[in-house]
Amino acid sequence: MHASRRPFVGGNWKMNTDLASGAELADALMAALVAAGSEGVIDAAVYPPFPYLFTVGRTLGHSPILLGGQDCAAEASGAFTGQVSADMLCDIGCRSVIIGHSERRHGLQEGDEFLHQKLAIALESGLQAVLCVGETLAQRDDGLAEAVVAKQLRGCFGTLTAETADRVVVAYEPVWAIGTGRTATPQDAQAMHASIRGVLADLYDSRFAAQTRIIYGGSVNAKNARAIFAEPDVDGGLIGGASLKAEDFASICRAAAEAWSAAGGH
Ligand code: PEP
Repeated sequence: MHASRRPFVGGNWKMNTDLASGAELADALMAALVAAGSEGVIDAAVYPPFPYLFTVGRTLGHSPILLGGQDCAAEASGAFTGQVSADMLCDIGCRSVIIGHSERRHGLQEGDEFLHQKLAIALESGLQAVLCVGETLAQRDDGLAEAVVAKQLRGCFGTLTAETADRVVVAYEPVWAIGTGRTATPQDAQAMHASIRGVLADLYDSRFAAQTRIIYGGSVNAKNARAIFAEPDVDGGLIGGASLKAEDFASICRAAAEAWSAAGGH
């Protein structure tokens, strides 16, 4: 953590919960964040499945927890059966969206050019975007991790101006660590986050790089969060499995708040 960057912790529910349990999870999460003393101290967000967004949003009410979509279409509107636009997300109260999660990059073959379009349209709609990047295990083993992530960043930010792109949170999510129980070491995460900050400085400038939040995702849980968040370039986390348990997610948010406070933030 760094004092100048407010931590961000997002809970990606993926294709889990049903309508009732999603609302219950949101309710439990609000209570757990208050109990953990981290409500409003950091930026916390939840990304429920599309059909439950409205209900979860209603449940969250005036809570500072941000509501977000797990994806959005690359087009503004029209004949795109089954897709959900960024404006539609805004319309039902979302303020954030995940773009380029590895389960879409690799599972659905979404490439950088396409993700750039999604990112541009999400930002144009006024959403904050969590842009996911990360290498596969084979790419890491071949020594290509930093080059792969740099290419993803360049392709996804593309022609966006610094003024537009300042609402992007970058999520470094090594593909081999997502849902596997295997986390990057805090040192591995720090090294990649520093490298990402270098690419952002090159794409924009050092001020932009210094103010952009870079969060880590990949099997973060209530036990390992503290050590990862202690690293100076790690500004929070994108949490999958552990976000489905209110107590665990609240503990992770608390770890972020404590790491920030230890770094001199408030
Ligand atoms: C994710 O889905 O972004 C993720 C990091 O999942 P998990 O925490 O389950 O590895």
